Amino acid sequence: MTTQHRNLRTGQPIWLGKAASHLKFDLLMDDISVDIAIVGSGISGALMAEALTESGYSVAILDRRKPVMGSTPASTALLQFEIDTPLHHLAKKIGLNTAERAWRRSKLAVDALRERTRDLGISCEMISRDSLYLAGNVLDEKGLQKELRSRQRAGFETRFLSRNDLQSRFGIDRAAALMSFDNIEANPRKLAIGYLNKAIDRGARVYAPVEVATVEPRSRDVLATTKEGRKIRCKYFISATGYELPDYVPKKGHQIISTWALATVPQRKKLWPEKCLIWEASNPYLYMRTMSDGRIIVGGEDEEFEDEDKRDAKLSSKTNSILKKLRMMFPEVTAEAEYAWTGSFGSSTTGLPFIGAIPGMDRCYAVLGYGGNGITFSMVASQLVRGLISGAGDPDQDIFAFK
Ligand SMILES: Cc1cc2nc3c(=O)[nH]c(=O)nc-3n(C[C@H](O)[C@H](O)[C@H](O)COP(=O)(O)OP(=O)(O)OC[C@H]3O[C@@H](n4cnc5c(N)ncnc54)[C@H](O)[C@@H]3O)c2cc1C
Repeated sequence: MTTQHRNLRTGQPIWLGKAASHLKFDLLMDDISVDIAIVGSGISGALMAEALTESGYSVAILDRRKPVMGSTPASTALLQFEIDTPLHHLAKKIGLNTAERAWRRSKLAVDALRERTRDLGISCEMISRDSLYLAGNVLDEKGLQKELRSRQRAGFETRFLSRNDLQSRFGIDRAAALMSFDNIEANPRKLAIGYLNKAIDRGARVYAPVEVATVEPRSRDVLATTKEGRKIRCKYFISATGYELPDYVPKKGHQIISTWALATVPQRKKLWPEKCLIWEASNPYLYMRTMSDGRIIVGGEDEEFEDEDKRDAKLSSKTNSILKKLRMMFPEVTAEAEYAWTGSFGSSTTGLPFIGAIPGMDRCYAVLGYGGNGITFSMVASQLVRGLISGAGDPDQDIFAFK
């Protein structure tokens, strides 16, 4: 087994310029034996490690980079239950019943993440935010009305805002929008470090840098071997390697694309009322959020290629296009970037992630928490995989299973 090697991100993500708590990690100097080995110390590995240590398993987390240095610190961290694929579009792809279940599970995951983070006392600048989904080239005003009816049918509290409502309440000039409630913004680096530290408090160990090179399910356990030849014997093996996909995971329906983001200078004037998360029913879509120090984080401009040199070469021009779009939406803001970065980004044909047992590999699981809801799906993954390992199962495993 090998995992793809990628240059996951380039530029200066805002979160790496801010202080975060200390995290203890070690080199792997000996062979080890644990209940569960997790490869990947990003938000997926962190949430998984915390959930599994709560259930009493001994856990080792291994990463070939230093902890939380993959895609997670590049995230803009709009933690939304609204899946990138509109509910009525998803229903056409996977059936109405399954689409509604996927959306409800996503909502449960965001609620669970908020409640668990508060209960564990993890300090990560987490704030509940409503969100505005603006009419665009994927859903115009009529399309948003259709989406409203689908969401209401499925039980989601959603409000339709007309052009006048949008203008008078938020100063935004768009044909219409849907408003949803109780999504989250956070500092993703602090979030992941906080969860890893909770797992460490319960005895988990983080090993880095260490590259897991092979994994071999055997009759009674799984043997993972590092590039240096150290052996990790475990009852269960979990691959949480983000956008560096392992060879042994089915990749049908997955694609790696490129995305760009920036954080502005702190704004001198007040930001938009209610500081909602804003995104567009467009392809590609622009999205934005605020920060407690008055900056605006804006991202988008996605393109369907994975070539990292080409992606990095576009950082400056993409930064300018994003700033131009920000200025068009809010002419009064200071549209100057203090941080700008670019990264690889996962997408799937449905917008849903793949989570579950790896076909043909007993006691091995993988998490591919794709796209704009990546962190929401990392939370689903920690719940779902814990259910599978403990034998309790999960009512939604069919939605996310590898095909
Ligand atoms: C610019 C940008 C904006 C985003 N915005 C949002 C957003 O607003 N909301 C949202 O929910 N999501 C967003 N995402 C997506 C989100 O960031 C990702 O879904 C999430 O960070 C993935 O976390 P992860 O733990 O799965 O992967 P990572 O954080 O990449 O962690 C995986 C780790 O696995 C390690 N690894 C890989 N292979 C091996 C190996 N063989 N041996 C040892 N270690 C290995 C890597 O070194 C890496 O550290 C965004 C992503 C980007 C790039």
